[in-house]
Amino acid sequence: MRVVSGIQPTGNLHLGNYLGAIRQWVAMQDAMKPGEECLFFLADLHALSQPVVAAELNANTVEMAATLLACGIDPDRAILFNQARVPAHSELAWILGGTARMGWLNRMTQWKDKAGKSGETQSVALFTYPVLQAADVLLYQATHVPVGDDQKQHLELARDIATKFNNDFGVELFTLPEPFVSKAAPRIMSLRDGAAKMSKSDPSDMSRINLIDSDDLIVQKLKKAKTDPEPLPLAFADLAARPEAKNLVTIYAALAETSTDAVMAEFGGKGFGAFKPALADLAVAVLGPIRDRITRMQGEREAVGQVLAKGAARANAIAGPTLLATQRAVGLHV
Ligand code: ADP
Repeated sequence: MRVVSGIQPTGNLHLGNYLGAIRQWVAMQDAMKPGEECLFFLADLHALSQPVVAAELNANTVEMAATLLACGIDPDRAILFNQARVPAHSELAWILGGTARMGWLNRMTQWKDKAGKSGETQSVALFTYPVLQAADVLLYQATHVPVGDDQKQHLELARDIATKFNNDFGVELFTLPEPFVSKAAPRIMSLRDGAAKMSKSDPSDMSRINLIDSDDLIVQKLKKAKTDPEPLPLAFADLAARPEAKNLVTIYAALAETSTDAVMAEFGGKGFGAFKPALADLAVAVLGPIRDRITRMQGEREAVGQVLAKGAARANAIAGPTLLATQRAVGLHV
């Protein structure tokens, strides 16, 4: 089993990123057996598909690496690196660009959503983004790729590119990666609107808990979180029409690493006057130490840089033979 997953180095990670993505990475790393590997990368090349400010991209990459380490990614067990330090990602993406078809990329819903009516003014990188994603996983012969719903189509594309490449050049080169949908990954919604996901792009900071929020701010945000006047029901299923309340119970269960049923068993029949302070205590207990570690690691830029350099060396070593075989397959290796 070889797991490969990337995350864009955007700043300001929040509770949704932690519970929905980063904690799943830590769980996968912890579940690896000898001979299996997890490769986690900061997708700094992908970030170039949108306008960037150089100093910000650089700072965000360090911040994101520090955050992943603070959340429990262990560089002795998982391979943590930034994509740009492994040039084979770009090289393979270019080669696979000869295999991917315009029509395939035109059908990507994420491209259609992001480009909207202004496709002509978007970067070429935004259009070819899924080809780089294909390269990201095929380069390592990934067997499993953790994906959310929004990324399933891109992984399917990676499989199509791998299959066509293998057929076109008569090789058995690329492993077809399987999607790995974690059942444990909850979708966390905004604290102000149960119908919108918690996101860094929400203009209201009160809608999310940032991983760097102080204890006081965490308490304040949860206290002000939108709810309704009804007490909590006895069964989680009865929260279906109460998205804000459902979200808070989901957050509680995820932070306590327990089931939503167990939360209902404890709080069913109680009002938010009792539930919210308990949730705030739990959130501070779980997130406080992570925030303190993030703050500490951010001051250790050099140490973070060393971790990334070591990760890149290991990733380069795994990527090398696949890139070489690909170059040979297409006739580039003279
Ligand atoms: P944002 O929506 O804040 O821009 P990203 O799109 O950068 O977040 O997502 C980074 C990772 O975090 C992805 O794996 C995504 O699935 C996960 N993620 C983001 N928001 C949430 C959320 N509200 N609940 C669960 N997972 C989330």
